[in-house]
Amino acid sequence: MIDEGYTKYECEWRHGPALPAASIAELNRWRNRLHEQGLIGYYPEHGVGFGNVSIREGDSDAFIISGTQTGHIEKTDERHYARVVRCDIEANRVFCEGPVQASSEALTHAAIYALDPDIRAVVHVHDAALWNELIDRVPTTAREVSYGTPEMAHEFRRLYEETDFAVQGVAVMGGHDEGIVTFGRDIEDATRRILRYSK
Ligand SMILES: [Zn+2]
Repeated sequence: MIDEGYTKYECEWRHGPALPAASIAELNRWRNRLHEQGLIGYYPEHGVGFGNVSIREGDSDAFIISGTQTGHIEKTDERHYARVVRCDIEANRVFCEGPVQASSEALTHAAIYALDPDIRAVVHVHDAALWNELIDRVPTTAREVSYGTPEMAHEFRRLYEETDFAVQGVAVMGGHDEGIVTFGRDIEDATRRILRYSK
């Protein structure tokens, strides 16, 4: 059931230098906190990482996101982040640059940013216990919709318009085992929205 790490979308990656350390310092601090809590990590039995974080770049549609397959790293730094320049959700295409390729869930992040310009940060974690506890108790995307698809983007839009997702900023991905998404006005806000449920 674990589908993390399999890149379903087309990613056009332009290899480039690491982003300035200062531009990812806050993002990275919260990422490492999530890793400590086991909400970002690695499935040894599947050999894939899970969980990713991002922040919007200024008022643009671009964002900075943790790189693919970095979940096993205890303390990441600027070498582990990519800049997503543009996404085409309907065509499943991501254009990114940096020292690593963007997380395979960049399209999920893009779908959330597209909901509202006030969304400045997105956090995606995996946790079996939390997923089971929160499913259908908080806004939940349809189980038949898997991650990284245009249908998932439409599901987030539906939740944003029809449920309290816009206010609470948390949703369970019903078709993505253990997957939960939060957003916020900054990375601290988005991270605290998941940490408040975490033991
Ligand atoms: Zn995931």
